[in-house]
Amino acid sequence: AVTMAQVSKWYDDFQVLRDITLTVDHGEKLVICGPSGSGKSTVVRLLAGLETHQEGTIKLYGQPVDAQGRGDVGMVFQQFNLFPHLSVLDNLILGPMRALGMPRQEARDRAMAYLERVRIPEQAGKRPGQLSGGQQQRVAIARSLCMDPKLMLFDEPTSALDPEMIAEVLDVMEDLARDGMTMICVTHEMGFARRVADRIAFMDAGEMVEVDPPEIAFSAPKSARFAQFLDKIL
Ligand code: ATP
Ligand code: MG
Repeated sequence: AVTMAQVSKWYDDFQVLRDITLTVDHGEKLVICGPSGSGKSTVVRLLAGLETHQEGTIKLYGQPVDAQGRGDVGMVFQQFNLFPHLSVLDNLILGPMRALGMPRQEARDRAMAYLERVRIPEQAGKRPGQLSGGQQQRVAIARSLCMDPKLMLFDEPTSALDPEMIAEVLDVMEDLARDGMTMICVTHEMGFARRVADRIAFMDAGEMVEVDPPEIAFSAPKSARFAQFLDKIL
């Protein structure tokens, strides 16, 4: 499980996270939503080990974030962060070869299997710049999967995409969810949240205001702040 207990974080005098307590079980899918600046990306970046905090404890499978193996936590951002000068296939085999010491042929086999999984095996030889945004994001997802993560973090993976490409990325994420991956997704795609999330967390002003199963979140949110937020985005 992923646990955050009474986590607070400041940037200088500014408190960005206030006493966040959250548990995400193995195999669970959590969607995090909330207004801009509420601290969603900060939570995800802490779980990915990209930032530090001042108070509270964070554990992934009983261990601190910095004790995780390379690739144990996969992260997909709004920007795809692929290496532009490498082919799709080379983007995918780099991590397993360099960080996991996997032989090239095994890394290639694994990469091709994940490209099938994200439905673009025919793009393996192209460079990222020759792909659509939706295809590039699916490569980014496949690249994380090649490292065999225990947990996948997504931070608004579809918000930089044209509308027609959003569904193809959400479909891939849904497949992953169905296969049992533990997933924490910051997204405002509420259709996806309704279909996939076990629970939906609402953040506002650095607080985790409430965490509910979708049937509660969408019909009877407990706080006025969450109700107002949903009114605006639905
Ligand atoms: P958005 O929906 O716009 O992505 P968010 O909920 O992901 O917002 P965060 O990126 O977590 O919000 O930021 C939370 C707050 O922390 C914001 O007020 C932001 O300005 C502030 N913040 C983020 N990074 C830094 C930083 N490096 N230094 C100072 N303040 C920061
Ligand atoms: Mg953000």
